[in-house]
Amino acid sequence: MKIRISEIPEDGVEFDLREEVSSEAIKILSPVHARIRIDKEGLEVFIKGYASGDVEQQCSRCLGRFNINVTSQIDVVYHPAKDIKREYLHELKSDELNTGFYGGDIFDTDDLLREELLLCVPMKPLCSVGCKGLCPKCGANLNIAECNCAIYEIDSRLSVLKQLLR
Ligand SMILES: [Zn+2]
Ligand SMILES: [Zn+2]
Repeated sequence: MKIRISEIPEDGVEFDLREEVSSEAIKILSPVHARIRIDKEGLEVFIKGYASGDVEQQCSRCLGRFNINVTSQIDVVYHPAKDIKREYLHELKSDELNTGFYGGDIFDTDDLLREELLLCVPMKPLCSVGCKGLCPKCGANLNIAECNCAIYEIDSRLSVLKQLLR
């Protein structure tokens, strides 16, 4: 949803959002639900609330796809950024996660929700805590079935261990 910053009232405004948000970095599944409060002080825009949505993840061990729900607590300050280029903004944001910038008079809540969800996504997603991953030799998904290489693998590790014990 696009919000005109000049139209934000003195005593702030609250929104209950259900937005379709797309991202190149992650697949966002459900409409993202968010409750936000927007306050304005001079040209600074303060946003507090939360955003919640389902995202598709790829397991870092077995490469299987699975969905997780992520909820982000939003607490950001947006500053006007008239002539700053987008690439520069991204650099700034990685340093100061609680600071954002808006261009012109329009603030797009989709950008906010997208960024908030991205921040909550785990760096190394796991489909389950006990995910056994893929066999490094034959590529079999060890969550589905044990392959024979796993036995040899343990054997060779044991023989290394035996040698160390000697
Ligand atoms: Zn997995
Ligand atoms: Zn194998």
